[in-house]
Amino acid sequence: MTTKNILSIKNLQVQINNTVIIKNLNLSINSGEIHAIMGKNGSGKSTLAKVIAGHPKYKIIQGQIIFDGQDITYMTPEERSHYGIFLAFQYPIEIPGVSNADFLRTAYNAKKNFQNENELDPLSFLDIINKKIHEIEMESSCLNRNVNEGFSGGEKKKNEILQMSLLDSKLSLLDETDSGLDIDALKVISNTINNFQNQNKAIILITHYQRLLDYIKPHYVHIMKEGNIIHTGDFTIVEQLEKYGYQYINSSIN
Ligand code: ADP
Ligand code: MG
Repeated sequence: MTTKNILSIKNLQVQINNTVIIKNLNLSINSGEIHAIMGKNGSGKSTLAKVIAGHPKYKIIQGQIIFDGQDITYMTPEERSHYGIFLAFQYPIEIPGVSNADFLRTAYNAKKNFQNENELDPLSFLDIINKKIHEIEMESSCLNRNVNEGFSGGEKKKNEILQMSLLDSKLSLLDETDSGLDIDALKVISNTINNFQNQNKAIILITHYQRLLDYIKPHYVHIMKEGNIIHTGDFTIVEQLEKYGYQYINSSIN
């Protein structure tokens, strides 16, 4: 098995409302790898995830994003999604008036369409989604309800992971997927992510806590500060962070 570059970010500079938020950021991720991104509130982690997913509000003023060999710097979020990028939001949105089952099937079929494969009718789709719902220990009633409407914090996060698994994304960006989860939900979600990950895919986990990374072992841990990655190491830095806080990074790189 040869590893392949999945994501390569070169010298990225991003601004919103004329304020630069990401500065000269470089990041390279190969297939089979799990990368954790940590850093204080406001250091730019969610912005980076949204920019990789193609959020239209953020303006790339310099640099390049290469995904799976293609320059995606100026691609729409839909194209990126079809090519295999998935973002699980820190704050999943509610979509009133759209049932979760319809939403998931529409997303699934849009991708099948893009790949010139057959769409699934609602009944065949139910077979697939019911297996996945069972694996992630969600109530099947979550399919009939409107997307995320009235879902608990844990159910919203599970619904994001359900989408990731359904779309079989090649690069999954999970933004604080562990926040607000009870310990059982954290375990189930971690198991689902571990079963999902393989040598052809990559995952970026944005998190504040070692807890998640005890279940899903990252190959690399990046620390962001003021819109840049200021340190990259392995899992051991997470333990140091828990002990000493972000001050540890400042003192170890100076
Ligand atoms: P993190 O996820 O690391 O907590 P964010 O990426 O959410 O950080 O935010 C990084 C910085 O960019 C913060 O100072 C935040 O206020 C600013 N920022 C992010 N999105 C916007 C926006 N839509 N408008 C104005 N400022 C923003
Ligand atoms: Mg954030």
